[in-house]
Amino acid sequence: MTHGGITDNDEAELIVVGGGLVGLTLAIACAEGGIRTIVVEAESAEALTGRGYDGRSAAVAYGSQQVLTAIGAWDRLAPDAQPIVDIRVTDGGWHIKGESHGHVHYSHLDLLDRKPTPLPPDTEPTTIIACEPDQPAAPFGYIIENRLTRIALLERVKTCANLTHLAPHVVTALDLASDAARVTLEDGSVLTAQLVVAADGKQSALRRMAGIAAREFGYSQTAIVCTVTHEQPHHGVAHEHFLPAGPFAMLPMTDETRADGTVRHRSSIVWSEDPRLVPMLLKLDDDAFGKEIERRFGSSLGRVRPLGPRFSYPLTMVLADTYVRPRFALTGDAAHGIHPIAGQGFNLGVRDVAALAEVLVDAARAGLDLGAMEVLDRYARWRRFDNLMLSTFMDGLTRLFSNDFAPLRMARDLGFAIFNRTMPLKRIAMRHAMGIVGKLPRLVQGRPL
Ligand SMILES: Cc1cc2nc3c(=O)[nH]c(=O)nc-3n(C[C@H](O)[C@H](O)[C@H](O)COP(=O)(O)OP(=O)(O)OC[C@H]3O[C@@H](n4cnc5c(N)ncnc54)[C@H](O)[C@@H]3O)c2cc1C
Repeated sequence: MTHGGITDNDEAELIVVGGGLVGLTLAIACAEGGIRTIVVEAESAEALTGRGYDGRSAAVAYGSQQVLTAIGAWDRLAPDAQPIVDIRVTDGGWHIKGESHGHVHYSHLDLLDRKPTPLPPDTEPTTIIACEPDQPAAPFGYIIENRLTRIALLERVKTCANLTHLAPHVVTALDLASDAARVTLEDGSVLTAQLVVAADGKQSALRRMAGIAAREFGYSQTAIVCTVTHEQPHHGVAHEHFLPAGPFAMLPMTDETRADGTVRHRSSIVWSEDPRLVPMLLKLDDDAFGKEIERRFGSSLGRVRPLGPRFSYPLTMVLADTYVRPRFALTGDAAHGIHPIAGQGFNLGVRDVAALAEVLVDAARAGLDLGAMEVLDRYARWRRFDNLMLSTFMDGLTRLFSNDFAPLRMARDLGFAIFNRTMPLKRIAMRHAMGIVGKLPRLVQGRPL
């Protein structure tokens, strides 16, 4: 049910604060698992799905696609999801200087020579260390506009029993008592549940209200994001160029067929740049902006020009000191906001959701209090290590590659050359990018809760 105002459901078991990509996914998964859930979101559905709200497209990893399928949101997304079949990573601006630096090439076919190993039906999910994709030549993932993912999730919310969607409403206060958790909304109304989960983003107000500290690190980079059109087809290849100012990604999107029947090839760029240059770059006319993109990306897609509005995002990393308190848990960017260098932020959030939903649904079935630390500790133990490892790795990668110091570049290029020829290492990296390594929750395996 979607409510514009607060009406009935004040007897929830779970309150999710923040109905963004992660909060909605969690709320649907838990409600479908039989937990009476309220999700509170500060923005109206119209604002969240408007074209001016979020210009990003996300690389949705194979494992996250499994979760979106399991919660019933994938069918609506599939027509607009561009499969990623190749990833090409290049160190340095070879197209600028006319010389080729180190590169790594991942093809989804590289995973083919190991036969997929179907899981025995009675496998205990938390003992699985790695699983194979369910199709032999599954793509690494899909590029999807965030706006379309929000639309699909909001549509799915409407068909969920046990779920109340309150928007637009802002949570202004949190009370974590021994018997219940309570949130106060901006209009003074109070909601009560066994557990409050904060999915309210990187600058989480709920995290502060719960007294959980977070460490924030800056990169002196701002991401310019927009959709572009280009002359040549992309063939499902995602590109990442490590440039001195920061990584530049060209992510393949589905082609667009226009009213006159002509087809536009499209990609989404994530261009990390010196923040001092960004205001000037955002103001360039389309022709000059397109040429700046070509200077950084090269000519392999032919002429590149922007389509629609340009967006910018200051880049930081925010890591919460802990994920849980009695009757309270953090998830998604509220727990760990990272640099988009490898397109993993939302994917980490989806893995949080899959683990937390499994822990909570299992607890509810066993008749346990959802806000009890014995329940929440299981979630924290499951997710903290994976998130910390990946965040730290992404942070190191960003700092290592965002410079043009010659000796470092030579060492990097040697590393690239060795890595590119070492298939077992590449396969590990590919499985990580697909989100199918670690103790996999049932939803990531595409299984119901
Ligand atoms: C440039 C860029 C590119 C990226 N590309 C990728 C990618 O390719 N792949 C990938 O996996 N990730 C990517 N990410 C990361 C991804 O966008 C985030 O990880 C993801 O959006 C986090 O979702 P979230 O729901 O946790 O937080 P948010 O999207 O920030 O949602 C938080 C929600 O909470 C609401 N809210 C806040 N406070 C309150 C309150 N007090 N009361 C009620 N509601 C509240 C907000 O309105 C918002 O809707 C990228 C990030 C950037 C910056």
